Amino acid sequence: MSEGLLMAAYLVAALMFVMSLAGLSRQDTAKNGNIYGITGMVVAVVATLGYAHIAGITLVTLCMIVGAGVGLYLAIKVQMTEMPQLVAILNGFGGLAAVLIGFASAVEVNDSLAAQVINMASSTEQLIHSAEIFIGIIIGGVTFSGSVVAALKLQGKVSSRPVSLPGGHWTNLIVLVLAIIMGVVFVQQHSILALTLVVIFAFIFGVTLVLGIGGADMPVVVSMLNAYSGLAAAMTGFMLGNNLLIITGAIVGSSGAILSYLMCSAMNRSFISVILGGFGTESGTIVSDDEQGEYTQTSAEEVADRLKSSASVIITPGYGMAVAQAQHPVRELVNKLRERGIKVRFGIHPVAGRLPGHMNVLLAEAKVPYDIVEEMDEINDDFAKTDTVLVIGANDTVNPASEDPGSPIAGMPVLRVWDAGEVIVFKRSMATGYAGVQNPLFFKENTRMLFGDAHESVEQILKQF
Ligand code: NDP
Repeated sequence: MSEGLLMAAYLVAALMFVMSLAGLSRQDTAKNGNIYGITGMVVAVVATLGYAHIAGITLVTLCMIVGAGVGLYLAIKVQMTEMPQLVAILNGFGGLAAVLIGFASAVEVNDSLAAQVINMASSTEQLIHSAEIFIGIIIGGVTFSGSVVAALKLQGKVSSRPVSLPGGHWTNLIVLVLAIIMGVVFVQQHSILALTLVVIFAFIFGVTLVLGIGGADMPVVVSMLNAYSGLAAAMTGFMLGNNLLIITGAIVGSSGAILSYLMCSAMNRSFISVILGGFGTESGTIVSDDEQGEYTQTSAEEVADRLKSSASVIITPGYGMAVAQAQHPVRELVNKLRERGIKVRFGIHPVAGRLPGHMNVLLAEAKVPYDIVEEMDEINDDFAKTDTVLVIGANDTVNPASEDPGSPIAGMPVLRVWDAGEVIVFKRSMATGYAGVQNPLFFKENTRMLFGDAHESVEQILKQF
């Protein structure tokens, strides 16, 4: 394949990746977005293999088949609730690839130097190339070890509590400075020993950084590590002189950084505080004694009657719907209500669940029509005009305490469900949500608590139709 054809193929792949991101940003175009991404990657791999004269192509092909097989198996097998750890480990592989390629590049340069056949135009170019290797390796190393720790925390194999090492952030800083010093030694002297130490310090830094952050903040950390893996890929692109890798790395790096920022804004947290481990409460384990008065319990029969007499209903799902896997019966309930001419919509909070787009994925899986799924900003003013709201396994995202300046979730934008005629809250107990804050919604006059597993509760209501 000629170089011109390779560049044309790379351009097509880059366009596909941009179209993929655009597609993935909306539920109804997400499937196409995925297809564009897969097509772009196939074009990129085929063009690269067709152009480069790769020694040991059989081994490379074999490794690709094994890698693709493992990836396919993991993606098919993974449960929705385990998705964050899968994403974490995949980011980690990106980081590890950057480390390995960087090392191979460094050894190659050293061999050339030893044989005096180095073909660099000037020593400046050589310095730049070494700096690229160093930056790629340090970012890749932190991404790899940090992602492994994040995945282990999410899987419950490592304590999800923030673990501070002696010396706290100072220890982290010292490790990072040591890695940078070794990097400078490598760039100046091409010492493979110094580069090996960079890798070791980068691995240690990734571990200590992520160990210090609470398990509940892991989704933000995973998104940040995703951005790092993009940067590492971009640096690898510079190392190898591969334009497509630079473009793709930049796209992943910037979109990961934007996503981390959006998640933090939706939770009203400072990104720096999350990364420095300032927050990080344990999910659903803190029960506040701060009783807010009496709450009113209801039954499936009463909820069914209320729904039948409503003209408009909004459903606001949360993490509990994912735990209960209640999306299928919820979809059935929506069908029943719509058959009766009742207007039904979903109101989705940007951080409902435990990963971005969690609720949208569940609803898409249950084949809920996209046109009745609305974002928080689109639907918030409509609660006041709605007869009944079903809060299914959501808590923090519908908590009016966010309007109280003294609350830990003060300023977090929430769905104003309490403006509706009646609010039915589906949950198993009076336990708090992820933020560990009691919810005054449960004690409001127009709120009814329907206790039990959300899947079973919705099934019970369905029996009344
Ligand atoms: P919450 O975690 O606030 O609340 C979930 C509720 O579901 C709990 O009150 C729990 O109550 C209930 N529940 C759990 N299991 C079941 C079940 N089987 N049946 C019925 N109810 C159940 O969820 P939200 O979605 O409202 O809020 C998400 C939180 O996660 C926010 O604080 C957000 O900041 C945070 N977060 C989100 C991220 C994201 O990207 N989406 C990333 C990081 C954090 P009970 O135990 O009594 O049943």
